[in-house]
Amino acid sequence: MVKLRCGDYGFECDFEVDGGEDYVVEQFMQHSYGEHGIDYRKEVVRQFILRKYHS
Ligand SMILES: [Zn+2]
Repeated sequence: MVKLRCGDYGFECDFEVDGGEDYVVEQFMQHSYGEHGIDYRKEVVRQFILRKYHS
């Protein structure tokens, strides 16, 4: 189980999502694109999780 907060990546935004890694990646990508117009690649969001939890 992991958690990402949009506000940790440069936005004034309260969005956060937690759950399994695949779920979090999907939800974070959809949010970033839908709310901020940022089309993160899946590998990029995976890197966010890796840095936060596996460093
Ligand atoms: Zn956001």
